[in-house]
Amino acid sequence: MQRVSCGVLARVSRISRQLKENVCNLSSSSDCLQNGPKIAVVGAGPAGFYAAQYIAKARSDATIDIYEKLPIPYGLVRFGVAPDHSDVKKCISTFNKTANLPNVTFYGNTALGSDISLEQLKRCYNSVILSYGAEEDQRLGIPGEQLHNVTAARSVVSLYNGLPGAQDVDINLDTETVVIVGIGNVAIDVARLILTPIDVLRKYDTTEVWLEKLRNSRVRRVVLVGRRGPLNVSFTVKEFREMLKLENVRPIFHKEQYLPFKEQVAQQERGRKRLIELLFKSALAEPEPVTAERWARAEKEMELRLLRSPLEFLPGSDGKSVEKIKLAVNVMKGDTVEGTEETEEIETGLVLRSIGYKSIQADEELPFNHKKGVAVNVDGRVSEGVYAAGWLATGPRGVIVDTMGTAFKIGANVVADLKEEQKGKPGRSGMPSLPKSTSWADWQKLEKIEMEAGKLLGRPKIKITSVSEMLNKIQS
Ligand code: FAD
Ligand code: NAP
Repeated sequence: MQRVSCGVLARVSRISRQLKENVCNLSSSSDCLQNGPKIAVVGAGPAGFYAAQYIAKARSDATIDIYEKLPIPYGLVRFGVAPDHSDVKKCISTFNKTANLPNVTFYGNTALGSDISLEQLKRCYNSVILSYGAEEDQRLGIPGEQLHNVTAARSVVSLYNGLPGAQDVDINLDTETVVIVGIGNVAIDVARLILTPIDVLRKYDTTEVWLEKLRNSRVRRVVLVGRRGPLNVSFTVKEFREMLKLENVRPIFHKEQYLPFKEQVAQQERGRKRLIELLFKSALAEPEPVTAERWARAEKEMELRLLRSPLEFLPGSDGKSVEKIKLAVNVMKGDTVEGTEETEEIETGLVLRSIGYKSIQADEELPFNHKKGVAVNVDGRVSEGVYAAGWLATGPRGVIVDTMGTAFKIGANVVADLKEEQKGKPGRSGMPSLPKSTSWADWQKLEKIEMEAGKLLGRPKIKITSVSEMLNKIQS
């Protein structure tokens, strides 16, 4: 028999794959999809959609089923990203294109761990991509954390963004001072959403519940507490600029927290230099006349208090609600901090923890690092045929573009790992019936209802904020 070189074989195999794909594209034949790989994606946030997008493009013969806990899609793009960051939400149009592909199906109201299990998914699908995000918050573990009005910044985010199940949470804005622990972008978002005028927030899809809270708010000052120094802030330049531009809000810096680090500004790496320069310029230099005049008139304050770690929350006379936060004054030792004997207190009626999110182990079959709050994985690979993507895999770090990059890589791994012979996995037809699941058409119906409700009030949309209301509206 004539020997055939590997290169020729590879070319033949590529051509044969292309022919197969063309047949799929031309006829969309159910045969082709039936014989192609079955892929399950769990979680319809950015990671899930971007991984699905990659696989759908690389393997048009794949059948991709997206299972999502909530009746509706988009994860943190809908329930995390601040309402006034509407430009960020443009990625939704890309997600919609993926969801509308003939070989992609959305199953909402279907949670891993209660409605479906990892064992079932592994049995029915060639590849399972877990991308269910990071929905819990980290705790400080210090005395008084259980006091009333000490809560997670995540609760405020959920309230202004309409996350189902979070709308009854009691956020006390009947106080002059709010303290936020942590100085990442979530902290900055939340501070901005507390201090922004209602008329501005009405232009976006901010929930009515939050606008009503703001109407009754007495808050005059938000203090952001960072444990490290000015070279180690976690927020980014765009968010810091927004803070400086906030109408009617004067930023407060403490010059003595910046002066010892002034010489190091020039040594910052390129990516952070712009931010650190602007931070030092704002903190140390006299503001421009226009800004100075605007800040002099401002009625509210946003204070950045650095080199302080929370030690304890102290109750008021009722013994139940927080009245003060006690802070240790820190000094920097390289990039880490060391506490000193010196302490200080801030009087406050609301403290928000904003020190990061963490994932949970939704299914006990999933190898999970409880300490780090992530699925155990190497480059997204968890075990044969099982992958983790997005914040479940990386931890709660990075913006949507970062999540997109890692999700595409996981998509590429899935495609590379798929065996030539894909028969034998039933996909959705082997899974239990899901009588309560919602479809993409259901979501589109809800979206239309939200837009129409918005039109009546001169708002972009009025979000539906409870699962039962969503399901009732779908059925009506
Ligand atoms: P998620 O977006 O959380 O998606 C996970 C999905 O899984 C959700 O839909 C969830 O309902 C679903 N799910 C959860 N549990 C289950 C289960 N058991 N079964 C099935 N489904 C489940 N990035 C930016 O670029 N710009 C911003 O302005 C910005 N703002 C942000 C604001 C906040 C408050 C936060 C927290 C993050 C923000 N980010 C922003 C970062 C961005 O949101 C993340 O990078 C991205 O959403 C992570 O995507 P993910 O798919 O891993 O997780
Ligand atoms: P983050 O950026 O990691 O910030 C967490 C903050 O909490 C840091 O200041 C950290 O300080 C502090 N912290 C952690 N543990 C602490 C402790 N025990 N005591 C005191 N302080 C503590 O997290 P995030 O703000 O939740 O944001 C998560 C990701 O989402 C980030 O990548 C962020 O950029 C992204 N995001 C983006 C946007 C946007 O683009 N607008 C909005 C929101 C979120 P140390 O640095 O000292 O650890």
